[in-house]
Amino acid sequence: MSLVTTYCSQCFTRNRLPVEKTDSNAKCGRCQHPLFAHTPVTGRLAHFDALIQSDIPVVVDFWASWCGPCLQFAPVFQETARELEPRIRFVKLDTEQEAAIASRYAIRSIPTLMIFRRGEILAQRSGALPKGMFKEWLLSFATTPK
Ligand SMILES: [Zn+2]
Repeated sequence: MSLVTTYCSQCFTRNRLPVEKTDSNAKCGRCQHPLFAHTPVTGRLAHFDALIQSDIPVVVDFWASWCGPCLQFAPVFQETARELEPRIRFVKLDTEQEAAIASRYAIRSIPTLMIFRRGEILAQRSGALPKGMFKEWLLSFATTPK
């Protein structure tokens, strides 16, 4: 039995659970909310490191409210989260509200999509992309069974 560690969508506490239990029924050991909300969470400086330490790959959407392509991509990101969580986890990072994180990763153009696992960057790309391509790209990093 292998264990995975990942964050709770509600309280961001890290939970450890058997890989075969990573589904919609999983509940947070601390707050009892569903561990996987099938929706992106908002990244903040206080808990960002806890999010990207996940054993399950986490895709971060670095965006800003003034960026047209970012706003166009937002529904794609949302729908893909509904379809792919918990195989992939989803975080939105507002580069204006969280400028310290944006500068830590040297974000120069938005949207930028970055995939993290255990705190390390697995991949990144700039620019919005169609849902089919986005899903395909993400699933190439999926590590847990369907
Ligand atoms: Zn929780």
